[in-house]
Amino acid sequence: MKATVLRAPGDIVVEDVPDPRIELPTDAVVRVTAACICGSDLWPYRGVAERPGPVRIGHEFVGVVEEVGNDVRGLSVGSFVIAPFTISDGTCPLCVRGVHTSCLSRGNWGTPGATGTSDAGQGEAVRVPLAAGTLVPVPEAPDPAQLPDLLTLSDVMGTGHHAALVAGVRPGSSVVVVGDGAVGLCAVLAARRLGAEQVVVMSRHASRQAIARTFGASEVVEERGEEGIARIKDLFGGIGPDAVLECVGTKESMQQAVGSVRPGGMIGYVGAPYGAELPIRQLFGDNIGVRGGVAPVRSYIPELLTEVLSGDLRPGAVFDSTLPLEDVAQGYAAMDAREAVKVLLVPGGAA
Ligand SMILES: [Zn+2]
Repeated sequence: MKATVLRAPGDIVVEDVPDPRIELPTDAVVRVTAACICGSDLWPYRGVAERPGPVRIGHEFVGVVEEVGNDVRGLSVGSFVIAPFTISDGTCPLCVRGVHTSCLSRGNWGTPGATGTSDAGQGEAVRVPLAAGTLVPVPEAPDPAQLPDLLTLSDVMGTGHHAALVAGVRPGSSVVVVGDGAVGLCAVLAARRLGAEQVVVMSRHASRQAIARTFGASEVVEERGEEGIARIKDLFGGIGPDAVLECVGTKESMQQAVGSVRPGGMIGYVGAPYGAELPIRQLFGDNIGVRGGVAPVRSYIPELLTEVLSGDLRPGAVFDSTLPLEDVAQGYAAMDAREAVKVLLVPGGAA
């Protein structure tokens, strides 16, 4: 089969790789219907996160179960499934408590682990370890028009939801979202879904601003740094919002979050930290709470899936580009240059 391989920073290709097969009785093989490129895939692509190459890449995909091992319950051949961005058993004490990303048997796509090396998501098919715990079946074969919405449940929609949830967003909340990538945009949608009254997004890109407004942002702030903080304070009665959702992970974005939130407010952070730091004295002085981390999206999929299937939740608009898998390099280049928000990849070239 064909799959994406990151040979070295900036050098990404689609290659012939061995076909996946059942190696453990808890495995399934999934034929990928659609996959996508994540903002976090850009870190190894840029060489910021070191991955001794060549490595398989991609951790967001949906597809159809092609084969199941003897111990896989709850999935059948032909089931349409959503794969969250980490592998988990669904039964350990941490999964039971909803922290699937810290599963005692956790694994990452395309990375060696206790359950062998799985395939990664940007390919034609995937060996899925701990399939019964990891995958979420969709009750009926979905309408193809819903594929983008369903694919966001692999990561970005659940991650945006995590930011809003841990920041305590509730009906009437005032919220600022730092970051206009797919996660930031989904955080806007998630905050509104939880009842936020006012959501302001920090963005300088017209096309992203437009998506944010569709998702429920009432204002856009283009200024950054001290100017951005002053503008936010101004928009929220001189004190700042109840919650800031930090969806970038850099030093500057965290400073923006800490500087913007009102005293007694909460920061929900989900941007993978590359440089972000916390000023404990400032947090102490103004009673600012900080909560977040890698989003346990597996625990959120069932709830969000119901609303996606009913058409009440439409996060799929974050995909502004669809490419055949073969053109994956073009997709990475477009996201790296911020020409695309998020690229959907279709194996088989039927884009
Ligand atoms: Zn577990």
